[in-house]
Amino acid sequence: MKLEYLEVKKTAAKLKFRTKAFVDGKFVAARSGKTFATENPATGKALAEIAACDSPDVDRAVKAARKAFDSGVWSRQKPGDRKKVLLKFADLLEAHASELALLDTLEAGKPISDCATMDIPDTIHCIRWHAEATDKLYQHVSPTGPENLALVLREPVGVVGCVIPWNFPAQMAAWKIGPALAAGNSVVLKPAELTSLSAIRMAELAAEAGVPGGVFNVVPGLGETAGQAIGRHMDVDMVAFTGSTEVGRYFLKYAAESNLKRIILECGGKSPQVVFEDAADLDNVAKNAVGAAFWNMGENCSCGSRLIAHKKIKDELVAKVAALARTWRVGDPLDPRNRLGAMIEKPHLEKVLGYIEAGKAEGAKQVMGGKRILEKSGGYFVEVTLFDDVSNQMKIAREEIFGPVLSVIPFSTEAEAVALANDTNYGLAASLYTQDLNRAHRVARAIRAGTVSVNCFSEGDITTPFGGFKQSGFFGRDKSIWAHQQYTELKTIWMQLA
Ligand code: NAP
Ligand code: MG
Repeated sequence: MKLEYLEVKKTAAKLKFRTKAFVDGKFVAARSGKTFATENPATGKALAEIAACDSPDVDRAVKAARKAFDSGVWSRQKPGDRKKVLLKFADLLEAHASELALLDTLEAGKPISDCATMDIPDTIHCIRWHAEATDKLYQHVSPTGPENLALVLREPVGVVGCVIPWNFPAQMAAWKIGPALAAGNSVVLKPAELTSLSAIRMAELAAEAGVPGGVFNVVPGLGETAGQAIGRHMDVDMVAFTGSTEVGRYFLKYAAESNLKRIILECGGKSPQVVFEDAADLDNVAKNAVGAAFWNMGENCSCGSRLIAHKKIKDELVAKVAALARTWRVGDPLDPRNRLGAMIEKPHLEKVLGYIEAGKAEGAKQVMGGKRILEKSGGYFVEVTLFDDVSNQMKIAREEIFGPVLSVIPFSTEAEAVALANDTNYGLAASLYTQDLNRAHRVARAIRAGTVSVNCFSEGDITTPFGGFKQSGFFGRDKSIWAHQQYTELKTIWMQLA
């Protein structure tokens, strides 16, 4: 598909949606027969009715996953053979890349220019990377005495529940299922209720690639029903969760109250971008800062929502950020010229507007934006919004807004900058800008965050682990070999030699 408005619209109009659960290699309706509507946040119109799975459906999927796991059809398959299947899966994702990009654009209101050039290519790359790792990981022999042989092995955990958010639907699915499947587990995935379509299609393509029935199941449904049923299931060995800190806590509770399943959480953030007075090129800083704050409409866990700028360069930087932000067009996400699409749903739009009002009420200086726009479309669009002279105690500086709202906070000394950066319950990501190599190292080490990017805004790539300190996460990392390993259990085999 060419990234051209008319062609994108035409292709989108022809899409067919898969709307049922995918369990044991087959599409199935929810046992109750119930469905829920999914809508296009750029029009406010319903797109499809999706199977509303609940605890009996989760149970059916977990049974299929357990049966497949115990049979060894995937879990004990030769790693090189598992790799071949996963590489074919990646090829099929690539063959259907436009379709998958459009599903995420239609359901999540994300710009097609991002879905087609970032989300889906990253999704495919993630599956390929973990597939390639499958037959390159060696196991360990412990340094025992000659009378013993001790093997330290990594075995798949078993049945892994994955519960994911709506902001990067296909990519978040890939970050979980890539390493989980590559390590030999069976998966039961619950997509966010607002964005089920790409995950269901991915399961169908995985089956077409040769992933055996029961190994990759998708149970769409609501968090409180299907999500909770996964969290409390006695035969789920592990849950990998991405979402809000608030819901992440529930999974720890579910595990404690059920079978002590392993829990890994990737949660929210309030990431600082620290700009020192010696930053090399303020135009480049502004470009990165705008990307960090407004990419994906700010609906991004690593969103650089606090721009902590040295007093000497702050005004110049704010002017550059504002000028650049004005060029980030907001509108129909199917139009490739738009950099921002719609907020995910009306209640979320209202929440974001509420934060903007709180910023004004607390005395932050509004530089631009602040209003709902394009209301006639029926969609939930909001202007790119910039606040200057924000104090780190204000609500807009403390809480995750998950919208295109950037707060600029001034500082005078390095110690003050570090203190401001760390004065948050979160610790997912951070960036800093300076030409001083010593300072770059010092501050990167001092900031308590899972990923610190220097002289750019970045989450690294598939080779680097991604996850949070403090209340941004619990135990886990996505991406890289560390993600692969967390979907395994350590086993010791101790042998007495004659
Ligand atoms: P959310 O409300 O926490 O939902 C995440 C998932 O949990 C969804 O599938 C949701 O289902 C489910 N859920 C909700 N309530 C539940 C319950 N009581 N029991 C079990 N499951 C439940 O998060 P979101 O609004 O979808 O996404 C935004 C959040 O995700 C932000 O805080 C963002 O920072 C975070 N995020 C983090 C990362 C990271 O890597 N650290 C990446 C992306 C996003 P429903 O859809 O039905 O609510
Ligand atoms: Mg939610």
